[in-house]
Amino acid sequence: MKVLVWDDDSYLNNPAAIDMHPNGIRNTIANFLKCDDIEVTTAVLSDEDCGFTEEVLRETDVLIIWSHGGNEKIPDPIVERVWTHILGGMGLIALHSSHFNKIFRKLMGTSCTLKWRMNVKERLWTIAPNHPIAQGVDETFALEAEEMYGEPFGIPNPDEVLFLGWFAGGEVFRSGCTFTRENGKIFYFQPGHEDNAAYYNENIQKIIKNAVKWACPLRKNIVLDCPLQEPLEQ
Ligand code: ZN
Repeated sequence: MKVLVWDDDSYLNNPAAIDMHPNGIRNTIANFLKCDDIEVTTAVLSDEDCGFTEEVLRETDVLIIWSHGGNEKIPDPIVERVWTHILGGMGLIALHSSHFNKIFRKLMGTSCTLKWRMNVKERLWTIAPNHPIAQGVDETFALEAEEMYGEPFGIPNPDEVLFLGWFAGGEVFRSGCTFTRENGKIFYFQPGHEDNAAYYNENIQKIIKNAVKWACPLRKNIVLDCPLQEPLEQ
């Protein structure tokens, strides 16, 4: 399984984020994913073609994206290229503020808006315990500091809502949602503001690992063309 973890480096002006992720958010995530079954590489917005060359995408089973300041910075032809690979089977895990990433918004076709407020306590609930992404995850667990994301979340109805978030302050959020777009499986997961410890939490790591396995395609690079079909039977 080949996983590409991508971020936009937009947190480099925040010393607390650098303290939390000395090698960048993408490497914090890559480090807990690495195992015998998963080959992990990383890329960043400033790489050639924003890290999304055709060669890289052809090799990738599951793409994980984290972005904030760079959400709007991927040029449209590259967004189209990534989108095409997802429709052709590549899995996508969109984390936290990448709800506004152009790739995710193109896949959803909706505003992807939400409410937000800086770090408060979040309690997550696993509401689909039989789903592959929820295996080994506690029924409920708390993050002492997480950015509040509140409903209404401007997404189309998900295939499934797996995790609900409750925030001190009273807000709730569909924190873990699955979608299918043509041949591609997509998981959106809310935790992970740049300067908090979400990606060091055991349950969060378990969820992202499970999501990689779930989103991994049986077939990728499926060609999406529209040929004239001659009849097979006379
Ligand atoms: Zn954030």
